[in-house]
Amino acid sequence: MIQLVWFPGECAYSLVARAYLQSPYCSWRETNKAIFNIKHVRINVLLPGRLFAFAELTTHSIDEVRVKATGHVLFALGLVDIKSRERLINASTETGEKAFGSSLLAVSKLTFAQEIKACPLCAISDEAKYGVPYWHIIHQYQGVSVCHKHGIRLAVHKTGEGGINRQYVLPLWEKDEEIKSSNITEKTLSRYIAKLHELLCVFTPITPLNELYQQWLSGRELLTSNGHIRWRILKPQLLSYWHSLFCSIEPVLPLELKGFQFVPTMIHKPRNMHYIKHVLLMAFLSRTPEEFFNGPAEAEKECETKDKPVRNIEKRALELLFAGNSMRSVASQISCSIGYLKQLALRNHIEVERRRQHITADIERTVWRKAFYGIHREVIAGELHISIGAVEQIIQSHQGLSQWRHHLLIIRRLITRQKELLAFIASHPGKPRNYIKNDCGAYMWLYKNNKDWLYQHLPPAQSRVYYPSVNWGARDIILVAQLMSLKPVYSSLSQIDRELGGHGWLLKYRNQLPMSLDFAKKLLVLPKV
Ligand SMILES: [Zn+2]
Repeated sequence: MIQLVWFPGECAYSLVARAYLQSPYCSWRETNKAIFNIKHVRINVLLPGRLFAFAELTTHSIDEVRVKATGHVLFALGLVDIKSRERLINASTETGEKAFGSSLLAVSKLTFAQEIKACPLCAISDEAKYGVPYWHIIHQYQGVSVCHKHGIRLAVHKTGEGGINRQYVLPLWEKDEEIKSSNITEKTLSRYIAKLHELLCVFTPITPLNELYQQWLSGRELLTSNGHIRWRILKPQLLSYWHSLFCSIEPVLPLELKGFQFVPTMIHKPRNMHYIKHVLLMAFLSRTPEEFFNGPAEAEKECETKDKPVRNIEKRALELLFAGNSMRSVASQISCSIGYLKQLALRNHIEVERRRQHITADIERTVWRKAFYGIHREVIAGELHISIGAVEQIIQSHQGLSQWRHHLLIIRRLITRQKELLAFIASHPGKPRNYIKNDCGAYMWLYKNNKDWLYQHLPPAQSRVYYPSVNWGARDIILVAQLMSLKPVYSSLSQIDRELGGHGWLLKYRNQLPMSLDFAKKLLVLPKV
């Protein structure tokens, strides 16, 4: 039996390929017979079966081979219940087909290309280090298109019928071949999957993924208080985050994923899903898989001082002020102005240093009294020879005074506008409402702020007059038809009009009835001179 040194991160297919190259027969059938005791075997690069054979080949345990040489750890992540995971593990030790049936096909209906991938730079460095290039398991994951170590695009070779098929090959790289660059989104996804694989090799998550998603989404205010997803906000964010994965000629992921319709199911009704769907949401919510499994609380702690949400500024400022911090230090900690802090402190009865030694209790009372009457700050400051800031500070320190002053201001404006409207009506007697609306500025202000008063004081609305619309062209034709039955015996248009019914149309509306007028003139018998 052949035994091989297992290179770091080497996948199961790569082990057989190396065994094939070492065997004297140069036949994949013979290699299969020697390793698996059967001639026709097709090894899946991500979910190979017959793990006992690989275990023997590497002299490692089946579990170690399963975790490190196959993609089982990530596929197991997509399975909701433990029994499914166990089934996946048991099946994978027997045949590849069963592993497929109970995991990949059950997990997902997504179709990925059958391919094997390698990083050119990894191939070169592996050859230099181990004497032979080999296939890495991390590169084989669906969704990985970039080497997480070198950041370059992976070279892709087709497998299955028409491709490598049952042959055993190792990655080959000519030195003058082109190295393709990749975009940042592809790198993000590939690195995340690589890190997730590394993490899952040593760690088994216990918390259900949907609970973690809910924690993360609620931390980002993407869940309502009832626990529903704010889908109208989340979906565009996901689309723009992963946009470039779907827009190249050969998209990295199947286009079925583009709509992210699986996200609500994943959060509310968890069921078996392809790991790529989980990765798309996890990598959107967190920078690394470790951060994701630690939950949003850990991530928040890191950026507590930097990215505090705006709504918490007031709470945070109060905490710091109550703790006895100076206003200057609080202002620099949460990046706000001292003026804002001073008002906040005064509203919440926190004693702060005030530079108003010459403001006596008497002056303060006078300021309050004048402010209560709604006198302008500037006027109060001028009368008492103190600064406007000091007046403002006293106003703000009395709860409700500022709102009262605003109320007074509105009332004053209302009175002025009402007087203005009444004066306009008095100076324009008999004018209709529309005229007042167009020519008096107070009308619209009162309409918006005090509609009831406005309608009580406007002149009474004029009753509507009905003006029927007339089709003068049609009436002209009808009149001509009537005139055609008359004989030319009339001496005036009035006489003809009376003959037609005496409605006066020929006299009053002659401009609208040009044909009738011409015809009627022909019926006139002018007196001989
Ligand atoms: Zn590489």
